[in-house]
Amino acid sequence: MTKPPSLFLSHGAPNLILYDSDTRDFWGELGRELPRPSAILIMSAHFTTERPVFEKGAHPGMIYDFGGFEPELYQMHYPAPGAPALAEKAALLAQAAGLAPMVSDGRGYDHGAWAPLKILYPEADIPVATLSVQPQLGGAHHIALGRALAPLRDEGVLIVGSGGATHNLRAFFTNPDTPPWAASFNEWLNERIEAGDSEALAHWEQGPDALRNHPSAEHFLPLPFAFGAGGPEAKGKRLHHALVGPLSLDAYAFA
Ligand code: ZN
Repeated sequence: MTKPPSLFLSHGAPNLILYDSDTRDFWGELGRELPRPSAILIMSAHFTTERPVFEKGAHPGMIYDFGGFEPELYQMHYPAPGAPALAEKAALLAQAAGLAPMVSDGRGYDHGAWAPLKILYPEADIPVATLSVQPQLGGAHHIALGRALAPLRDEGVLIVGSGGATHNLRAFFTNPDTPPWAASFNEWLNERIEAGDSEALAHWEQGPDALRNHPSAEHFLPLPFAFGAGGPEAKGKRLHHALVGPLSLDAYAFA
């Protein structure tokens, strides 16, 4: 078995998966190129809680947690089985790291999880466990959570953080251009990631125009989580780069 890297994916809008784009092509290629995982553990920006929550349902349903998009999106299914044993094991690892996790049973796949997975693994035949973001607990907590779970990669588990490298939706809906503050934050982030700079990711709010790019933290925090899941010496590699207005669709691998 080949050990997979951990990944950060910027998932963009739900309808990204409907139309031809470099990002959709990239997701499809990534799924074909990665060693086939034994299971997937994915943190979604659209699952937010005060403490880490691991969903252990055996047959998760669908959550259509968006409004005003194409009708076909609300008919889509991602019938991948859940991964109860993985969720329980991950929670034990988080517990051992003092991160006070909980386990839930009955939450379905939100679009931060199912949309990219539908392109990466369209056969939906790899078991998936989901986990939550803790928006109020910051970068260092998410790095620690990722590090606690990193040993799962030795068992072939693909650990994914699904969010957005930049995520100012208000700017997105008011101006189609990429503002300098989005491009420069995105490049600062890339430099810090490729340098393996855990301090910068733990204190990401101090980055250039960080809070303008992330008026709320939940789309950013899957990134320090994925960085942590790369292990203590992790450095990131940018696998994909695209800016749509102020929104970055960048993706990273950590190992
Ligand atoms: Zn989102």
